[in-house]
Amino acid sequence: MERFGFHSSFLALTLGLFFMIYLQYSTSCKDSGLQLFNYSNGPNGPSHWGDLNETWRLCKVGMNQSPINISSLEAINDDSLGRLRTNYSRNQPFLASLGPFNVALNFGPDAGGIMVNSTEYILNQYHTHIPSEHILNGTRFPLEIHLVHRTSDGSRIAVISLPYTYGKRDHIFEQVLDMISSLKEKGGTLGSSLNMTDLKISGKAYYRYSGSLTTPPCTEGVVWTVLKEPRTISPEQLSRYQIAFTENNARFTQELNGRPILYHG
Ligand SMILES: [Zn+2]
Repeated sequence: MERFGFHSSFLALTLGLFFMIYLQYSTSCKDSGLQLFNYSNGPNGPSHWGDLNETWRLCKVGMNQSPINISSLEAINDDSLGRLRTNYSRNQPFLASLGPFNVALNFGPDAGGIMVNSTEYILNQYHTHIPSEHILNGTRFPLEIHLVHRTSDGSRIAVISLPYTYGKRDHIFEQVLDMISSLKEKGGTLGSSLNMTDLKISGKAYYRYSGSLTTPPCTEGVVWTVLKEPRTISPEQLSRYQIAFTENNARFTQELNGRPILYHG
């Protein structure tokens, strides 16, 4: 009887996750119509995103856009930001989907999250950008991972940015690579689990600023937390990833327009 209970709740969870992915997918298709964006220099590239769809205007006229250049000399020390704290769940199930430029791991509502200014944001998605979108002290890194978090009502977004440089292998990214190879084809989805507590980013030094999503609709009001020290990935890991994703997917950096960049070390 207990086994039956476990299986049926697992089935419900799996179906629930698939439904969430379906909703996200169908919503994004509806929003974009036939005008899909890309990263080329052509008419659907980053310079024209704001013209492709009325709901994407902020990509063109927004004054608080991301990514940005971050200079540690210009960042303002702010102890009141507090220590970076995460409480991600162990062995968190996710569903992966392969878009044209990216793999996205979408987590369920029990994934845990972060506290920012006394507001709880729940981990919603793990995805990648090659090369990095943010530039730190003049350096563009080979990889940047975004951990997208949302408040429980979905209304507010906080993203943690993890820059990666070449060095030792990354344990979590290795699990993602294994998952990609079993997905086989783009557009596929697969459920599995990932131990996000292995990230161990609590207490790390970070930059904080107010920005936007780096893809259409370029929504603003996003709380950005960019880790100061890059993590490492082996060149072999990155080349395995690039077998699946041959195109780069980094938006060019945006004007600061007077926004402060805060720092907590
Ligand atoms: Zn991103």
